[in-house]
Amino acid sequence: MARIVILGAGISGLTAAFEASASPHEIVLLEGSPQIGGKLRLATIAGHQVDVGAESMLARRPEALELLADLDVDPVHPASISASIWTRDALRPMPKGTLLGVPADASSMASLLTHAELDRARDERLVDVSGDLSIGELVESALGPAVVDRLVEPLLGGVYAGHARKLSAAATAPALLAAAQHQRLLTDAARSAAAKSGAVDGAAQPVFAGVRGGVGSLPKLLVRVLLDRGVTVRTGATARDIERAGRSWRVTLGETRSPEVIDADAIIIATPARATARLLTEVVPDAATALADIDYASMAIVTYAFRSTESAAFAGSSGFLVPPVDGRRIKASTFSSSKWPWLAEVAPEVTFARVSIGRHGEEADLQKSDAELAAAGMADLRAALGDGLPRPVAAHVQRWGGALPQYAVGHLDRIASVRADLAALPGLEVAGAAYEGVGIPACIGTGRKAAGAVLTHLAGH
Ligand SMILES: Cc1cc2nc3c(=O)[nH]c(=O)nc-3n(C[C@H](O)[C@H](O)[C@H](O)COP(=O)(O)OP(=O)(O)OC[C@H]3O[C@@H](n4cnc5c(N)ncnc54)[C@H](O)[C@@H]3O)c2cc1C
Repeated sequence: MARIVILGAGISGLTAAFEASASPHEIVLLEGSPQIGGKLRLATIAGHQVDVGAESMLARRPEALELLADLDVDPVHPASISASIWTRDALRPMPKGTLLGVPADASSMASLLTHAELDRARDERLVDVSGDLSIGELVESALGPAVVDRLVEPLLGGVYAGHARKLSAAATAPALLAAAQHQRLLTDAARSAAAKSGAVDGAAQPVFAGVRGGVGSLPKLLVRVLLDRGVTVRTGATARDIERAGRSWRVTLGETRSPEVIDADAIIIATPARATARLLTEVVPDAATALADIDYASMAIVTYAFRSTESAAFAGSSGFLVPPVDGRRIKASTFSSSKWPWLAEVAPEVTFARVSIGRHGEEADLQKSDAELAAAGMADLRAALGDGLPRPVAAHVQRWGGALPQYAVGHLDRIASVRADLAALPGLEVAGAAYEGVGIPACIGTGRKAAGAVLTHLAGH
């Protein structure tokens, strides 16, 4: 029996531990912070447990749904209500059938664009690209800058808290880039993507899934299974160093003056890129440098609870996105109780809504106190929904420093070279949001893959 040590108990590390714990090996999961779950977290607001980190999972990829099935948890889906874009001082319907903001038909953007902007979008240009470029550049060259500013930016802002003109098209929108490389129109790519995601047997498949009790309840469910399977789960256990010890590994934890050393036959590092880079400095310096260069965006989520009797403004919509070009402080708002029927059911007396603040490179707002952030979020909500919005009965601020990795142009090459360097060190694997996707399903995928690779390696020992 070998010992597998997993560093970081976000969804990636938890999934790696879950997969590995089906084997006879000893599994040790070490989390640096006082709590497990990473970006999946619940907080008690107005007497109810509510997600204050990730809250929804893409259901068009299989990984999250498969994990729910493994845990015997039924997925729930958002109410079929639409979201809006808050731009040019009004809430405007989100165009349907877009692929990361690229419309299948430019006319669907009529409510967001001026006549001149719409004419430019309709006059779609063929683009000629060979390598990676930013998604902003790609869409701008085909459809004009306004489509980027009014639609692509807010959609990417919602996923990466980043900027369309910096994020890699190859990493964030491979289907669009592929279309561009085949000299086809981007709107064609959006149309075929929309068609693919459409009706199966006449019923549209839900795009997103959640969990009754919140996505933030998954870490606890996973830990319960891990403990049942005899896995050691420790919090407050920050890994400081890893080193090679013959054919095995050694992890050092704790203070420099009183270090604790754990021997491991295999290690999975499931921490954010900068922490992973520090741990890899001695063993794979080139990979460490490549990972250290991945920027992260910081952000805050402010969650409000309103009396339901006064909350008509949130009915019938799942929320809105905000283009940065409009100069607002918030970048999105989710009307949680409208979006998630289970939440309205368990907390009928209050209506939850949340806003997110902070984008990559624009963290000045996050210097404000919690009270100032909560007030700033309310000011924008009132501007969007009307002055009649009541005072919230509770507000909760969750800060996320180093929240989301930024997949800059060239990201795929960077990750390919990191993985190639690591391939020379069997028994050492990495997982997490920095690699093949920031969303929960992608993270679950990397955790599983890392566990699979480690088990294969140990089987050949
Ligand atoms: C506010 C917010 C909302 C989001 N919403 C969604 C959403 O709705 N849907 C979606 O799919 N995705 C969403 N995301 C993205 C997604 O939640 C994350 O990308 C994903 O949860 C990251 O998981 P992870 O395990 O890779 O990393 P993390 O969750 O960052 O976990 C890494 C863990 O490693 C620990 N750690 C760090 N250093 C060490 C060390 N040296 N030793 C031991 N432990 C260490 C950290 O404390 C942390 O717990 C959201 C992200 C944020 C920030």
